[in-house]
Amino acid sequence: MFNKTTSTIVREPGHETVKNIEIDYTFSESQIDQQIQCPKDTDINDFISFNLCELVEDSQSFFLFVKGQCKMECDTMCAGQGNKYLWQVGQDKPQELKAVDYCNCLYDQITENLQNPKLFPITEPYPKDFLKYVKQMFRRLFRVFMHCYCSHFDLIYKSGMEQKLQYQIKYFAEFMKKYQLCEIEDLEPIKHLLDQK
Ligand SMILES: [Zn+2]
Repeated sequence: MFNKTTSTIVREPGHETVKNIEIDYTFSESQIDQQIQCPKDTDINDFISFNLCELVEDSQSFFLFVKGQCKMECDTMCAGQGNKYLWQVGQDKPQELKAVDYCNCLYDQITENLQNPKLFPITEPYPKDFLKYVKQMFRRLFRVFMHCYCSHFDLIYKSGMEQKLQYQIKYFAEFMKKYQLCEIEDLEPIKHLLDQK
């Protein structure tokens, strides 16, 4: 069990603000089920945006933790054997990048997207294709967790962070499934972890 400081969306007339609160997270399936429910008075797209920001922050803190080892050891962005991810921007040809370079490109791209008011408006409605864009962001960010889990588990285990990583993987996997932000095959590399009760 561990505690995590997280944030919640507070809706005010015309705009949303984010306020920090303390929540006790425990590693229980039923608690995750509750946590991924969109609160009744919250817009679903606000809730998805909020969780996307959480995923950016949580995945990035694990990436930064393994970055030194990753730079030396990982020639490709992968999640276990046979699951290699190529980097692609728009219609460009997909390219194979070192895992560190893939993650750096990913966080640069996500930061740019999050600052784009056409995608994440403050007062205007969300764009019609909002889910299409966030789905791609969720899928790519989740690969960072899977890479950390599959390629850097020893380092994470030695530092006593494996339970936190496992919790976050389970939380975001359930979240993405519930809101159709991934394909089932995206979760295949960590299926054994997700099947564990
Ligand atoms: Zn790595």
